[in-house]
Amino acid sequence: MHLEKFEKTSLGFFPTPLVELSRLSHFLGGPKIFMKRDDLTGLALGGNKTRKLEYILADALKHGCDTIITAGAAQSNHCRQTAAAAAKLNLECHLLLGGDAPLKAQGNLLLDHLFACHIHWTGSNRKGEDIARIFSQLQAEGKKPYIVPYGGSNELGALSFIDAVAELEQQNTGAEFSHVIFASSSGGTHAGLILGKQIYNKTFELIGINIDKEANSAMQFDQQITQLVNNTANIIDLNYTFSKDQLILNSDYVGKGYGIVGPQENEAITLTAKLEGILLDPVYTARAMSGLIHFVRSGKFEKNDKVLFWHTGGAPSLFAYADDLDCAR
Ligand SMILES: *Cc1c(COP(=O)(O)O)cnc(C)c1O
Repeated sequence: MHLEKFEKTSLGFFPTPLVELSRLSHFLGGPKIFMKRDDLTGLALGGNKTRKLEYILADALKHGCDTIITAGAAQSNHCRQTAAAAAKLNLECHLLLGGDAPLKAQGNLLLDHLFACHIHWTGSNRKGEDIARIFSQLQAEGKKPYIVPYGGSNELGALSFIDAVAELEQQNTGAEFSHVIFASSSGGTHAGLILGKQIYNKTFELIGINIDKEANSAMQFDQQITQLVNNTANIIDLNYTFSKDQLILNSDYVGKGYGIVGPQENEAITLTAKLEGILLDPVYTARAMSGLIHFVRSGKFEKNDKVLFWHTGGAPSLFAYADDLDCAR
């Protein structure tokens, strides 16, 4: 395996903490529950995209690019972290955001404005459909643009979660984890964790909770992740082939669709806040945690299991979703 040939630019603070959620575990009557705090990666309120951007933006710098383009939803955590990273690296940043400009910027969008990036509203296109057009425009203006893919989920982004498994391995002193649970949406986190698990010989069951009902646009999401695992293995000369039937992508918790907050997400947010003093986000981590809670209640775990919830960030969007949170009523 050859990870060392890929450069990183430092954007966050690692390792992120590993903490035990004993009050939540006790409340649920479940196994030991731990949390990997990637909400604390440190870049502009943190999140899992910080790891990916360390590899991806190092590549942009290596190619002499001066402008970054990426895309996402109006409350995209990925876009917020990309805009912050671009500010730090003195790169111009263009965000293509789905929908129309709201009357008042809140949450992640408010922060995007602070990083002085250029925002292009793209209506119903929230996954970068207009990137090629903006790319040509910027080139015509004499800039050297670089495209960061949707969610930072390409091979370079996935590499960072191989490192993340190594980081976890260093931190975990006790028994091995039996399960690792996280929110999966553009696939880079999932693909990297699959490879990290393979490379470091881990035995945990890796369960991605699908949070997006329409995750499968051009290609089925499970096929997309599988392909990303194999392409990433390829660029690091890892002799490994992953097949789709090995993938655990649970789609039982997509509720009414992307970003629609229901009672399950509300319960996960409230329990984690009042028992642990930790903030989940309404779109991704609350959905994944509601899956974990349901797993405990339905008897999926043994008493001696040791479950890890990988917190991927996102709390800035809580403010934008204030009207959907039960606690505010
Ligand atoms: C992007 C994101 C995810 C999903 O990670 P992918 O690598 O895109 O699958 C999960 N949680 C939060 C908070 C995110 O911003």
